[in-house]
Amino acid sequence: MSYARVLCVGLVGVDGHLVEVEADLSPGLPAVVLTGLPDTALHEARDRVRAAVVNSGRSWPNRRITVNLRPATVPKQGSGFDLAIACALLAGAGELPVAPLEGVVVLGELGLDGAVRPVRGVLPMVAAAVRAGIRQVIVPLGNAREATVVPGVTVRGVDSLHRLVAYVRGEDRLLEPPPALPRPPAAGPDLAEVAGQELGRHAVEVAAAGGHHLALMGPPGAGKTMLAERLPSILPELDDAAALEVTALQSIAGVLPPDGGLIRRPPFQAPHHSASLAALVGGGPGLARPGALSLAHRGVLFLDECPEFANATLQALRQPLESGRVLLARARGTTEYPARVQLVLAANPCPCANPAGERFCACTALARRRYLAKLSGPLLDRIDIQIRIQPLSAAQLMTTTTPAEPSAVVAARVARARAAAAERWSAAGWRVNAEVPGPHLRRPPWRLPAADTAALRKGLDRGALSARGFDRILRLAWSIADLDGRDRPTGSDVHEAAQLRMGEAHDRRDED
Ligand SMILES: [Zn+2]
Repeated sequence: MSYARVLCVGLVGVDGHLVEVEADLSPGLPAVVLTGLPDTALHEARDRVRAAVVNSGRSWPNRRITVNLRPATVPKQGSGFDLAIACALLAGAGELPVAPLEGVVVLGELGLDGAVRPVRGVLPMVAAAVRAGIRQVIVPLGNAREATVVPGVTVRGVDSLHRLVAYVRGEDRLLEPPPALPRPPAAGPDLAEVAGQELGRHAVEVAAAGGHHLALMGPPGAGKTMLAERLPSILPELDDAAALEVTALQSIAGVLPPDGGLIRRPPFQAPHHSASLAALVGGGPGLARPGALSLAHRGVLFLDECPEFANATLQALRQPLESGRVLLARARGTTEYPARVQLVLAANPCPCANPAGERFCACTALARRRYLAKLSGPLLDRIDIQIRIQPLSAAQLMTTTTPAEPSAVVAARVARARAAAAERWSAAGWRVNAEVPGPHLRRPPWRLPAADTAALRKGLDRGALSARGFDRILRLAWSIADLDGRDRPTGSDVHEAAQLRMGEAHDRRDED
């Protein structure tokens, strides 16, 4: 027999495609030809596979070898095809029986010594294999635990080509994946640690309930970061589908923790303002890695000192915030990653960021305006909650005696509020209040009684409030009512919502 076929999986973004690795050996000048849209890393597979085969004690077939990856239309990236190529080639040369690998997906990179090395993205690859009807996979031992997260498939680990060859010949066994460790309950930071900061705590809770983006302005030391870091602790746990998405993205990025369980807590990502565009939105050579934006998918993206980020970086966030996905243009086509995030921005009130407070600020009015202007427009436009917070004074710290509410208590309120909103908007397909378009809230049956919105309409007429600002306050009022268990916002909910909006006048200027 001079032809053999072994199954593998190629990734494009988070989508896996079943790939057939075919090897054909024919008489002629010894050479290896690789066809079927391979990338550079895959071209190097020829050299890795040859060295691994020889160093595993097998003889290299001195014939003309054609390795084809089907379907040819799907771009193939990375080194995860090595093991499948080696198997197809050895089977084609008659060194291995083909039957034991029928209907089995084989994944893994080969070292020159014949060791099988872990690859990125095994979880989404195995998930794709199962969707395609595969019931057995062989993966690098280092990825075996992660592969077991996918239900409905038998996972075997392999540490060397030598072992795999012995297994196929019926001379040895493959390795059982190590048992997944029970993931300890998320010991993330808790809201109970935030003293005082009533407005800040309230803003974070409303943001969690309604899925609203949040901007926190305030001098250094006011507790902006403390509040932002605690938002995930009051968000609902991820359901099965979301947990699989989030875990798959970490697998592709190569940052999945080794204990292998599904990630159930909404992720939190806080890229530094000096981070490269690729680190933020994704990119890099070969298999494009997801950036912080996608690693925060279904969780929180926190941009601290937001005005310090490069303009191009902030601009690059606009489209993904709108669509919930990142498109990375590559030489060999476009890679797409999900990026549905809740955004939290933090900014100092001015470039000097005087910790003693704004009274001691030495910045000119122009410098302050320029500094915050970077936030305005398209980005701030999508942010429902914008508040200013101040550091606690020593007197406030001393008089704050009641212990702050812990995250678990707030999370229970948030969960009830989210359930109410999801039920109310289910017919229209929205899950949280932040997704509801403004006009929808201004029309019956959701329009609030005129008396409850009188102050807002006055602000609108005076020019102190923009139309978009008006809509944002309505959305927030619904979230506040949901948190308090009312089926409609009252006048006082609207009033409370307006307090979560500073700088409406500022918005007004943007629109002019
Ligand atoms: Zn200043």
